[in-house]
Amino acid sequence: MDLKNNKMKMIPLIAATGLTALLALSSAQVKAGELFPQNSEVSRQAVLRGAITPERAWWDLSHYHLSVKVDPKKQTISGTNTMKYRVLAKQERLQVELQAPMQLTKVMQNGQALTVEQDGYSYFITPKTSQAIGSEHTLTMHFSGKPLVAKRAPWDGGITWEKDSNGLDFIASSNQGIGASIWWPNKDHAYDEPDNGVLMSVEVPEHLVDVSNGRLIKTDHNQQAKTKTYHWQVINPINNYGININIGDYVHFGEKYQGEKGQLDMDYWVLRENLTKAKTQFKQAKMTIEALEHWFGPYPFYEDSYKLVEAPYLGMEHQSSVTYGNGYKNGYLGRDRSLAGPGLLFDFIIVHETGHEWFANNITNKDVADMWIHESFTNYSESLFLEYHFSQAQAYEYIRGQRINIRNQAPIIGKYNVHSEGSSDMYDKGGNMLHTIRQVINDDEKWREILRGLGETFYHQTVDSQDIESYISEQSGIDFSKVFDQYLRDIRIPTLEYYIKGDTFKVRWSNAKKGFDMPIRVYINDKSQWLTPTTSWSDVESDKKHPSFKADSNFYINTLNVLGN
Ligand SMILES: [Zn+2]
Repeated sequence: MDLKNNKMKMIPLIAATGLTALLALSSAQVKAGELFPQNSEVSRQAVLRGAITPERAWWDLSHYHLSVKVDPKKQTISGTNTMKYRVLAKQERLQVELQAPMQLTKVMQNGQALTVEQDGYSYFITPKTSQAIGSEHTLTMHFSGKPLVAKRAPWDGGITWEKDSNGLDFIASSNQGIGASIWWPNKDHAYDEPDNGVLMSVEVPEHLVDVSNGRLIKTDHNQQAKTKTYHWQVINPINNYGININIGDYVHFGEKYQGEKGQLDMDYWVLRENLTKAKTQFKQAKMTIEALEHWFGPYPFYEDSYKLVEAPYLGMEHQSSVTYGNGYKNGYLGRDRSLAGPGLLFDFIIVHETGHEWFANNITNKDVADMWIHESFTNYSESLFLEYHFSQAQAYEYIRGQRINIRNQAPIIGKYNVHSEGSSDMYDKGGNMLHTIRQVINDDEKWREILRGLGETFYHQTVDSQDIESYISEQSGIDFSKVFDQYLRDIRIPTLEYYIKGDTFKVRWSNAKKGFDMPIRVYINDKSQWLTPTTSWSDVESDKKHPSFKADSNFYINTLNVLGN
């Protein structure tokens, strides 16, 4: 998700308050200083958010049990997060995040309250016992407060407190970018996921239903308190930002899909008033799983099932709980982002957010700077859906049409270690980069094998850009390092310059990084031919005096006749 937000995410500055205000320079400050030498408060907070600090690196998350009570009247959330972790290295203080105005009130381990120091959004917890490498531990964080209200969900993040048309509460969390710590305390960095998943126990007024990630394993009814607690279980690793609550007057329907790994449970939770519309529109969910299993391999979370859940905002890739708010219409809020036509053949949110189950949820970026791994492949999944269910011509038309959304103002890859996303070009330009790479590979079966191979090789892992780039180069047998550099780390679009005069016919790449040498399919006198230009002029063979020349439009490049004739 996140198609409108073209701003770098800045971490708002919050002074140290609360539990134990930091009077002296903490070791985190010293270490942050080493990582990011600028002595500014904002930079330090960005490093605390974005770097794998020593206070994060020494322990590995294995499980969360998030137990919360949601009070729609007071718009508060309170509860506990019981976190299990394994010790990997020499013990340090333990770093977690919770963003104001939410408050971490107490941290308990083995029946004892632990010392906690706050530094902005980060909390540093000192275990009382010595924790040996390889040992496993549990601690419980108690928290409460009135979480930030999302103003433009899902782009800003927070909690949305809406009403449905019957006046009943319709509530949801969304926190991509801003971080899950906007409403609950956790290790808020993408590189580490709880290996054994999460159990969520969400207490809501008894007339409402909570839908969260994974499978509903139990519902408790507290008749005295007039509340129900819904227990949802995820057994696979899960992104922090994917963990979500959705509370409303939900009704349920479902189906079974015979997929590549057997029977997939597909469940749909929608507002009562939208049941009829949903039963028609959500037929595309199965179509999406079918198409994307073909291209990307098995749906990555059979154990946790697949769900599509109506939300009071446009949508988000919450793992095994994909949220939907596209108005039961095809396109992106009823329009075609490519302006080419094929974008109205499918429901953008169903396809895009479901595509993220493979890229974002299965394969996750370690650092948000590499978020192209989520968005570029998912952008491309939209055209793969079209290619599978409609035609390659329409799919190609759609992907090329999306170029109108590309800005080329900042590189796709952001800044590492400071919680900084790259530019919004990670969607349409990233998708077009993948489409261009596919043209160079020039073998659709090989291309599909590579896509499927990514899902298998990096199954349930967090990765960096280099992992994905190297895999594609190795598997294709073509060195794409310069292509990735050009499209991910530079804003310039390569220009294929050509020069035709008399017997002279030359081409070269310009407006590109030094050494850029991507092969390209061109049409000379309408005949398809491969060229391997470099950044120096090279001769092109032609049997005609005034050949016609054009590059294949599926390559995302510019062309320039340097003589202008
Ligand atoms: Zn997305």
